[in-house]
Amino acid sequence: MKRVVSGVKPTGDLTLGNYLGAMKRWGEMSADPELECFLFVPNLHALTVRPDPEELRRNSRAAVAWLLAAGADHEHTYLFMQSQVPAHSELTWILNNYATVGELNRMTQFKDKSQKLGAEGQLVGLYDYPVMMAADVLLYDADEVPVGEDQKQHVELTRDIATRFNNVHGETFKIPKPTVQTEGARIMDLQDPTRKMSKSDADLSGCILLEDDEKVIRKKIMRAVTDSGSQVAAAADKPAVTNLLVIMSVLSGKPIDELEQKYAGRGYGDFKEDLAELVVRTLKPLQRTYTQLMKPGNDQIDKALEHGWWRASELANAKLGQVKELLGLM
Ligand code: ATP
Ligand code: MG
Repeated sequence: MKRVVSGVKPTGDLTLGNYLGAMKRWGEMSADPELECFLFVPNLHALTVRPDPEELRRNSRAAVAWLLAAGADHEHTYLFMQSQVPAHSELTWILNNYATVGELNRMTQFKDKSQKLGAEGQLVGLYDYPVMMAADVLLYDADEVPVGEDQKQHVELTRDIATRFNNVHGETFKIPKPTVQTEGARIMDLQDPTRKMSKSDADLSGCILLEDDEKVIRKKIMRAVTDSGSQVAAAADKPAVTNLLVIMSVLSGKPIDELEQKYAGRGYGDFKEDLAELVVRTLKPLQRTYTQLMKPGNDQIDKALEHGWWRASELANAKLGQVKELLGLM
């Protein structure tokens, strides 16, 4: 059976970008009986934003609820909290010695997220994040890591770290493949289409949150910035409209050129109204499940986590033991 590993950080309320770029596909993969899916909540990675502890606890549970709502609820799918499998932290420390400062300096996400902070404000945890991500993946002999476009560079680093380790110590880690879908892999902010939609952004006015109610979703889409002209068309000089078309295309399963034809000569208003309707209709059933799961007294989240923790620990501890043996740590 092939193994798939991926995760979503509990750094805030999940966004439509998380859903379209990653979670929708995880739900589909979870239903595939040929795949063993390890979908975890990287709560240790979330410490890079120094979250309020209660908020972190809530966001972590919420992430599990969204994963279940997105369809990751099959027997051979394992949901777990990263902090509950200590092997992630241990392997990170070991792999720190198989990654270089030069490599980490080239990670664009670190540059993007830390640019404004200056050397005294930049946290080592954020800098080292890609090494922990390598540990997250390599512990499970993952074949595939389905992620959004922004995470591709980290998976490539994971491959380099694994290859380097294997070259020194013999075949230990499977070399994973990053799989980025062709459409929806990078959903942009609705107020600033040059920026990726991100849940940890200070300004969330251009982000559709999975928790947003119908009214808020409609308002955010109707207020989304559009480009000059009035044509509903995807083009390099129309990043805002292109982004909206991508969202509609992924949600409806219709190719972009078909949508362009449909809205030819109709202006932005009609198009935005239809898009809002589609987003609302897609999220409603997910929101219903999510609300049920988060109700006090519902133990489905805990049950899913226990099921996942058991299998994840089994594999992770075995891999960590093998690595320690090779390094003379055991
Ligand atoms: P943060 O701001 O804390 O980094 P995020 O919104 O980028 O939050 P992550 O937890 O880092 O979310 O990523 C979870 C998954 O969602 C990853 O596979 C990532 O590639 C994907 N993803 C994140 N943002 C987008 C987006 N705007 N479009 C498509 N995929 C995305
Ligand atoms: Mg991110």
